Amino acid sequence: MAYQIPLFNLNFDECEAKAAYDTIRSGWISTGSKCAELEELFAKMLGAKYAVSVTNCTDALHLCCMLCGFGPGDEVICPSLTFAASANCIRYVGATPVFADIVGPEHINIDPADIEKKITSKTKGVVVVHMAGYPAKMDEIMEIAKKHNLKVVEDACHGPLSEYKGKKLGTIGDCSAFSFFSNKNISTGEGGMFVTNSEELAAKAKLLRSHGMTTMSYQRASGHATEYDIVELGYNFRLDDIRASIAIEQLKKLPGDLEKRISVRKRYLENLSNVKGLIIPFEDCKEFTSNYIMPVILTEGNKERRNAIREKIHEAGIQTSVHYPAIHKFSIYKDYGVVLPQTEYVTEHEITLPMYAALTMEQVDFICDTVKKIIKEI
Ligand SMILES: *Cc1c(COP(=O)(O)O)cnc(C)c1O
Repeated sequence: MAYQIPLFNLNFDECEAKAAYDTIRSGWISTGSKCAELEELFAKMLGAKYAVSVTNCTDALHLCCMLCGFGPGDEVICPSLTFAASANCIRYVGATPVFADIVGPEHINIDPADIEKKITSKTKGVVVVHMAGYPAKMDEIMEIAKKHNLKVVEDACHGPLSEYKGKKLGTIGDCSAFSFFSNKNISTGEGGMFVTNSEELAAKAKLLRSHGMTTMSYQRASGHATEYDIVELGYNFRLDDIRASIAIEQLKKLPGDLEKRISVRKRYLENLSNVKGLIIPFEDCKEFTSNYIMPVILTEGNKERRNAIREKIHEAGIQTSVHYPAIHKFSIYKDYGVVLPQTEYVTEHEITLPMYAALTMEQVDFICDTVKKIIKEI
């Protein structure tokens, strides 16, 4: 069924098509000058020192875990209310994810108090996720990290240009990961970025992204190098210039896109703020944020009621989603036997409403009227 109002839509026009076409016509389509240009723009946009383009955010997170030195026998604390990649990356390097709870329905990011409770002599780091583009409690988290000598990885997939006390998300911890998957704020189909202020980590990320090779094909093709050595056990995590050229167009649109999302969010709040039976996470947040998604949380009933409400909203032509099915409940994690009361409440009561720049105020009003009517009925 095609929804009258989808959850998300691409902010694409002729610019992306032309950029991809021009790159294809240029004769160089794999990692080259477009990736380099994108990396420079991205780092500048965040006020970070280094950005290294990669195939997707999952690979960027994998790089973060390798570069933070996580390995077998180590524990790394992360949330469960996130996409599976935020925890899986810890296992790629042989370390063990230790799930911490979120603060609660008003603040659905990792709880610093629960991080502190879960620290053991084996804890080496924390993977922080900024849900919906709203900042996690970074002051407290960085303080805990300093006290216990932990590395901090930011999964900033939801938050390009989002801020926390004057800093851009993804520039506060040791390193961070961004996604250019098609439903993210910046879309290239697949794509991602590793970001850090450390020269050493950036240099290592570049090596590991391309087989641990000392030179790239682009440098050899352009006559700047003739030989290479393999100095690390690397991977192929390279982005290509076709996607990089699309990302460059998306970056140009990002500030305008986010301004429109702010108006959409404002309209949602005007409609839903004082509605009985609904909590809007981060309602009081005053930071500039990316508004990647629009989550709301039901205060009554159970998972079945939530699902029935979603079903009715879908029947009205509005697509919704759930962010997220909790990771610790998935088959490959349930043997960990973790109990996370706040995460479990939110995963069973959350509904993600449509959020994108092109939503009209009339559409937002229609969505809100529909939701208000349905939660009264069910
Ligand atoms: C989308 C997403 C990822 C994975 O990004 P890919 O680019 O698809 O690998 C990881 N973490 C979070 C929080 C995400 O939303």
